[in-house]
Amino acid sequence: MASTEIGRFTVRRPRPDQIPVVDVPPASHFIGGSFVQGSSPEVIDVLDPTTEEVLGSVPAGTIEDVDSAVEAAVEAQRSWGCTTPQERSEVLSRIADIVEANRDVLAVLESANTGKPRSIAEDDVSNTIDTFRFMAGAGRTMTSLGGDYARGHTSVILREPVGVVGVITPWNYPLLMAAWKIAPILAAGNSVVLKPSEQTPLSILKLAELIAGHIPDGIVNVVTGLGGTVGQRLAEHPDIALVAVTGSVPSGRAVAETASRSVKRVHLELGGKAPVVVFADADLAAAAAGVRNAGFFNAGQDCGAACRVLVHESVAEEFTQLLVREVGSLVVGAPAAGDDVEIGPMVSRPHFERVRNSLAEATAAGLHAAIGGAVLDGPGYFIEPTVFSAVPAGAPITQQEIFGPVVTVESFSTTDEAVARANETPYGLSASVWTRDVGLSLSVSKRLDFGTVWVNSHLVFACEVPWGGFKGSGYGRDLSLYALEDFSRTKHVMINHSA
Ligand code: NAD
Repeated sequence: MASTEIGRFTVRRPRPDQIPVVDVPPASHFIGGSFVQGSSPEVIDVLDPTTEEVLGSVPAGTIEDVDSAVEAAVEAQRSWGCTTPQERSEVLSRIADIVEANRDVLAVLESANTGKPRSIAEDDVSNTIDTFRFMAGAGRTMTSLGGDYARGHTSVILREPVGVVGVITPWNYPLLMAAWKIAPILAAGNSVVLKPSEQTPLSILKLAELIAGHIPDGIVNVVTGLGGTVGQRLAEHPDIALVAVTGSVPSGRAVAETASRSVKRVHLELGGKAPVVVFADADLAAAAAGVRNAGFFNAGQDCGAACRVLVHESVAEEFTQLLVREVGSLVVGAPAAGDDVEIGPMVSRPHFERVRNSLAEATAAGLHAAIGGAVLDGPGYFIEPTVFSAVPAGAPITQQEIFGPVVTVESFSTTDEAVARANETPYGLSASVWTRDVGLSLSVSKRLDFGTVWVNSHLVFACEVPWGGFKGSGYGRDLSLYALEDFSRTKHVMINHSA
């Protein structure tokens, strides 16, 4: 077993000449096509998590702010819902073009607000462009159906917009998670009122600033503020037809409970705890490299992170050594400190404390950190990339979503045991299977209770395929034609022509 190497990581900081100028958007809500001040003078400071310095501030939105955004969205949706798919497609393509023309501004801003490496922020911007382009085309494929199913009657089955959609987004991929909702929502003919995470509202406000005047007023509205006020009001507002949340299980549950009072439709993309099942015949080096990437991407602040390895006992030691070697080469630092920085900080002080507590609990429970295991010197909320090895079955750390740069390694003896233990989690978002045996890869994938199962891969996305979970990870699908179905409704019109 590799020896413990606690303390080998340091935080790389940028030289003053490396720090880019951050183009901060207006500190306002975006309602009806314009930036407007909040009804309360209260503001929320937005920080750079690598320096803990204030980057900007946004209004702490109120119920009145949400209500005026919904009013604008209702008004705008009346005409937007009557546009043709082609007209909507042109607007979505225009948004994609605007994002593309402003790649650097958005990537620098996203990095500054989240602390994520520039390469990841650039990837987020590219995927945002692709999401709008995909939905610009996919929206045009949604055709209504017809046929005769009762004598003398012709049925027309219409696919309609649902109306105004409330969206609540998290801080880990602020721009991309907003794009995953806005693009299909608009493509299906709805308008949107979006509440970004109070910690990372800047990139979506910047997008609003860039697209203002280039899309119909009021189809996209952004109200900043806290979940308990702005998010809660979106969940309860009588003129919102559907509320979609990407976030933690408690937030999703709170929204679903509130939405149930008005029998509102709910779309939930919640947390995850992805098992990585490595069989004895797997390419162990590829699996270790896969976990290096997918377990530590975005500093592990990813709902699909490859955070829980279950490896066959006969190769557990070899795999752990390979993984520790891989993880030891990760470069920790601030985004401006170089293009090779791979691990940024936790997004906020409270989240840093949560991850630090998880590490302390694991250590107190006697778990062995084969690498990492400590927090790093500030300023900023940096934590060492960490691998806990030889973790016993049922350890709490294998069940809870840590959402940081922490991977656990457990071992198993039989395939049945691997499947049972992988499924023993309240989450059901994603998983991966590593084996050279095609039959085994398919039979195990079918038995795993997760919305996405990768084989010999992990954390690879495409706009054509759905993303979403089972069990505690929620319901509803992002991306793909299934998202368009989720953000639309069917209506049956039956015409009697027998007379
Ligand atoms: P969070 O639940 O703390 O916050 C998400 C959003 O919900 C924020 O905008 C927040 O203000 C809002 N919110 C909080 N309480 C609310 C309430 N009572 N009513 C209405 N809105 C409320 O989550 P986070 O910490 O920002 O993000 C991390 C979580 O998101 C993780 O659990 C992660 O797995 C999940 N996530 C899931 C996916 C997915 O696709 N399934 C993607 C990204 C993140």
